[in-house]
Amino acid sequence: MSTPALSTEYDLTRTGAIELDTLDPLAAYRAAFHFPRTAAGEPYLYFTGNSLGLRPVRAVAAVEQELEDWGALGVEGHFEARAPWYSYQEQVQGLLADVVGALPHEVAAMNTLTTNLHLLMVSFYRPRPERYRILVEPRAFPSDQYAVASQVRWHGYDPAEAIIELRPREGEDTIRTEDIEQLLEEQGEQIALVMLGGVNFYTGQAFEMERVTSAAHRAGCIVGFDLAHAAGNLMLRLHDWNVDFACWCSYKYLNSGPGGVGGLFVHDRHADDPSLPRFSGWWGVDPETRFAMNPRFVPQRGAMGWALSNEQVLPLAVHRASLELFASATMERLRAKSLQLTGYLEALLGSMGSDRFTIITPRDPMQRGCQLSIRIKGDARELAGALKERGAIVDFRTPDVLRLAPVPLYSTFEEVWKGARLLDELAG
Ligand SMILES: *Cc1c(COP(=O)(O)O)cnc(C)c1O
Repeated sequence: MSTPALSTEYDLTRTGAIELDTLDPLAAYRAAFHFPRTAAGEPYLYFTGNSLGLRPVRAVAAVEQELEDWGALGVEGHFEARAPWYSYQEQVQGLLADVVGALPHEVAAMNTLTTNLHLLMVSFYRPRPERYRILVEPRAFPSDQYAVASQVRWHGYDPAEAIIELRPREGEDTIRTEDIEQLLEEQGEQIALVMLGGVNFYTGQAFEMERVTSAAHRAGCIVGFDLAHAAGNLMLRLHDWNVDFACWCSYKYLNSGPGGVGGLFVHDRHADDPSLPRFSGWWGVDPETRFAMNPRFVPQRGAMGWALSNEQVLPLAVHRASLELFASATMERLRAKSLQLTGYLEALLGSMGSDRFTIITPRDPMQRGCQLSIRIKGDARELAGALKERGAIVDFRTPDVLRLAPVPLYSTFEEVWKGARLLDELAG
């Protein structure tokens, strides 16, 4: 992973924050988003873009266009809408591929994250008696835990025995990459699948996906990543890293709305593998021959071969409006700003010299994205409530963690400054 230029020495005064905003080449993108406002009419200091990204202003016009075309054209909209619905996913494929570092045919925008995870595990978790285990991260998101355990059971194995959970070292909160490598070296031959988050939702740790993928492949394992907290956050190179498969949702850093359309990645080397089992639907076949209604399923090449159903045009319209912002801002520039913005938050918290908060997210900027997870001494839930009262939205995770994610598309340095000040004042 290349390291963009990073200033680690910040001027921690408010003037310093305003100066950083003045120099920010991406500052104009903030106006492309709609902010929730306090009772007094002020935009909230919004630090929960890792949970639900803000609404692009353009989303409304984008959905309206499809509603209008539906009204005006009815069924003919499939081919005659301004953005013909029949090929809607193909129209976003290139934009999405750029965000995750893939070839266009390696990605598809469809379903929701957990659905895609199941579809991909059907194809890529192929347990055999001598190799049936799955390696997962500690504190994986609950939906991933349920999905993985149910797949294990469905194949007739016992999750308690088949699932290996990584453990941080004694006294540490996050996982060392060398420990993953060592585990794979020692136990890799029993492991069918390595299934990790790109960024762990709780600790904010970004796994070193390229290193983990090579280590897993050396041990003969398949590797999949859940990129819910990584897509639109980290610089991803899924194709170059040789990741086998990945899936994500689009409502977090990808700002595509609550329940927005999810995505999946299948590496090119699996693009035309007819031996892969899969759960299939009519949208997975070649669009040219789809209406031939051939009784035998022949998957189209690449990720779209996993498509089940007709296009989800309304959520895809929002998704496209957001992806267009990513295309013009570019992940390179967003990541460069993100490193600064989160580094700035870290520096501010550090300067407060407080023992009331401990950052549990890795201090190495290459092992994290936007988010800092902060362990609070005292009542963290109450603190989150008090912050909300004072105009800052942060996320509380039981038992004692607040998660703050300044988002480079729309957060400012001054907001981070204000947020850190409030935290200092209210943590008491
Ligand atoms: C947000 C999130 C999900 C949510 O999945 P949906 O199916 O979209 O509801 C799953 N896994 C992880 C790691 C998440 O962060």
